[in-house]
Amino acid sequence: MNANDAKVRQILWRSRELDNGFYAIGIEILPYELVGVLVETDGMVTARARRHLAVMDPDEVVKRVTELAGKLVTDALGCGFPRNRVCLGVQVGGPVDPDTGTVLHLINGRDDHGRNKPPPYEWVNVPLGARLTAASGCATAVENDAHAFAAYEQKLGVGQESATFAVILIRDGVGAGLVVRRERLHAPTEFGHLLVWPRGRICDCGMRGCIESQVGSRALTAVVKERTGRELDGLEAAIALADSNATQAPQAVAAFRKAGTSIARGIATVLTVFGPSHVIVYATEGLITGGPGHRAANTFLRAVHTFPAHTLHTSRGCQLRTQRLDAVRGAHGAALIALQSCFGIRLQPH
Ligand SMILES: [Zn+2]
Repeated sequence: MNANDAKVRQILWRSRELDNGFYAIGIEILPYELVGVLVETDGMVTARARRHLAVMDPDEVVKRVTELAGKLVTDALGCGFPRNRVCLGVQVGGPVDPDTGTVLHLINGRDDHGRNKPPPYEWVNVPLGARLTAASGCATAVENDAHAFAAYEQKLGVGQESATFAVILIRDGVGAGLVVRRERLHAPTEFGHLLVWPRGRICDCGMRGCIESQVGSRALTAVVKERTGRELDGLEAAIALADSNATQAPQAVAAFRKAGTSIARGIATVLTVFGPSHVIVYATEGLITGGPGHRAANTFLRAVHTFPAHTLHTSRGCQLRTQRLDAVRGAHGAALIALQSCFGIRLQPH
């Protein structure tokens, strides 16, 4: 087959895809930002886009998500492309009911984003899926962000070597998604609110000693501030203080040790209940990239790796991996979930 034949075949395949294929738009709803991708039936990303959001109220977010999804479809597939062959998957950093497409709770605190400090917001029981379906004309799936990352790992990551694994996502708070015997667990997993310090700090949820009372950029920044008495503008400043030669650096380092131990205890609980062969921890680079001088990350990672000490010996063979937060991974995972729940396309490893 010469080069021209190959090109003709590719064009024919592409035109058949456009005539018969299914597509998913995946959108990650972040604080004041949208990240979108277009995914084909084979699960691969073929287009991506990003939008700043000026406000975060649900009406505006529905409007902007619909616009971004429309643009991705129009640019890649043409404006007349039938909407019944495109589905929409969105993910948010809070608990959702995937059966009804309702965002149960989504919150952004005043101190969540350092210097910029956009206004805080709070969503309670927002029927996001139904509203997006009405606005976009596309069947819509709504999921929690950690579940979207788990869907990505199932299709294109650790799912290729493991049938049962957990994904832990550390951002402003902490979440987890689980795949058990090749099935993604649909139940909301409130990993961040597992109790790991019975006499610990009060968590934002009102309970005492949750993982999220010590981990996530929100809690870690607050704990380092409490321990050192220093004013800090977000997690990066807390990491810089721990890595510095300041007199308060040891107290800051202790906060990263306790954060790592919190995750280790949470992993131990997941191991005891589900017995995953692998755990993937997604977090910002500053928290998981160790090395000379990176005292915060080194201390955090060392403490996370103590998880076997908190669990039964039968679970101690579990492999722990870390991954940096990738720009489109959450959106990609949301699209994969939509392909499965809207069109029945299974999330089997690639
Ligand atoms: Zn809590």
